[in-house]
Amino acid sequence: MNGVELTIIKCMYLPHLTIIGVYRSPKVPVTQLFMDDFSKQTATHSTGAPSSSQEFVGYIHNVSAVYNEKFFQCQLQGRDESVTRAVCFSPSKRKIFADFQDKKSPIKIKRFKVDTNANTSDLLMGHDVIVEHYPELDFQRSQIQSSTTLLSVKSVRVGQHITVKAKLTNMSKQQKAGDLTLVNCILLDPTASMKMVLWENFINQVENNRTYIFHNVTVRKDKYNETIYLNTAKYGTEIRLTEDFTEILAVPLTQDTTQFVSTTVEGEIMGIVSINSYFSCFKCKKKLEQSTGAAYLECKNCHMKQKLKPASQHWYAQVMVQFSDEKSLELTLFEEPIKQILAIQNQKSQPTLTRDILTNSLLNLPAVNFTYNTTTKVVLKIAQKE
Ligand SMILES: [Zn+2]
Repeated sequence: MNGVELTIIKCMYLPHLTIIGVYRSPKVPVTQLFMDDFSKQTATHSTGAPSSSQEFVGYIHNVSAVYNEKFFQCQLQGRDESVTRAVCFSPSKRKIFADFQDKKSPIKIKRFKVDTNANTSDLLMGHDVIVEHYPELDFQRSQIQSSTTLLSVKSVRVGQHITVKAKLTNMSKQQKAGDLTLVNCILLDPTASMKMVLWENFINQVENNRTYIFHNVTVRKDKYNETIYLNTAKYGTEIRLTEDFTEILAVPLTQDTTQFVSTTVEGEIMGIVSINSYFSCFKCKKKLEQSTGAAYLECKNCHMKQKLKPASQHWYAQVMVQFSDEKSLELTLFEEPIKQILAIQNQKSQPTLTRDILTNSLLNLPAVNFTYNTTTKVVLKIAQKE
């Protein structure tokens, strides 16, 4: 095997653990181990074009740290906002990628291979990859997500492995499933909420109310109620702590509100962080995906094309509240508490809510009692002081 030997060790007592040992002859460079492997793979699935003549033009996003001193990955934004994952097996190149990312520079990449295995088209790069500034690029850099959103997970094939960034909430007590231990929790991101099952050694890797990137978790479907959920995989799942979201998080879909802890405190809205709105479908009431400048929208659920009427516009806001104990907190207000605020101010007969009306209402509200979910910081109820 060209002076390279693989040893796979399975341990009886830790069935979920696989140890893979690699012996290499000092003559074989480390990068060779990977590139050999991948060049074989790509050779069998070659698209016919010699890889050396391919060029990629676009922008570099989300350059990762170096894993195991062997490789790093990033996302490449190409034409038409396409996004490709790229893996580079030359850690010393990371600085070049990170610099182009930080400067948001248009770039051209030469000398890479395309991995067409497993329906991906990842770009694989070695020590000979060339990345250069490419000012002639004729499209703009855009914001791209560093991972899949929970909403889009719902349209992913069951069994597939995905990577999501989400806030972990509502961790259950440990439960037994045969010999194994599991914990249920709810993941939240700005697009949706979703159940997740953490197994065995992953349970102790997380804490409630912290935000993580869940690498390579499995998409599953519940046999009984058909809901999609996520599961830590025996092999390949990695959980890494990451920074919190700055956007408003989705409200958990679960109807079981008893598991949420709520509290009621007197407070006053001191400022508005953001006000947003969305339209719901006239027919099926599902949220419509907004596209700017469209005269009408098509529902992704029932496919009805429709006019945008103020009556189907739903407002929500993120506000800074100062409490009587001098602490302050960012809370999220959806429709119900907003209605309660308008009622307190006798604005029930307001024909249509606008951003200006809402801004005035929020900032003119005297101190009231806020009942909110201590996990999601979503306001459940607003009532006048006793
Ligand atoms: Zn609809």
